[in-house]
Amino acid sequence: MYKFRQFQDKFVLSIDNRQPIIQALSTFCKEQDIMAGAIYGLGAVNKATLRYLNPSTKQYVDHTFQEQMEIANLTGNISSKDGAVYLHVHVILGRANYTCVGGHLLEATINGACELVVEKFSGAPAPGRKADPETGLNIYDL
Ligand code: FE
Repeated sequence: MYKFRQFQDKFVLSIDNRQPIIQALSTFCKEQDIMAGAIYGLGAVNKATLRYLNPSTKQYVDHTFQEQMEIANLTGNISSKDGAVYLHVHVILGRANYTCVGGHLLEATINGACELVVEKFSGAPAPGRKADPETGLNIYDL
């Protein structure tokens, strides 16, 4: 599903073509016991489901884009919720006409490559998440 190499507290991660990014990242964090950290990277996908939260209604709006797109940037963080790895990932995707779509990344299918850096935080208890009724978000519990 992926290949990686560790450089002290950072991992270079290459997820295999045609794999789902979020699923692969979750598996990687579980296997390497990473419960706190940061993610950044790039690549290309041909399908991505993005999520937008309408703050006034607190409703999530999900949309799936099925076209070839560059991952112009992927950025995220790793924490834990109820003892499980909790990923929070956002993405900017470049289309064939050089415009972009972006948002919270629910899942995307690689078509090309996906090259990520995962930085593991250590030295303090891993941050959890708690539901925040005002925003409807699972906020960092620091
Ligand atoms: Fe988000």
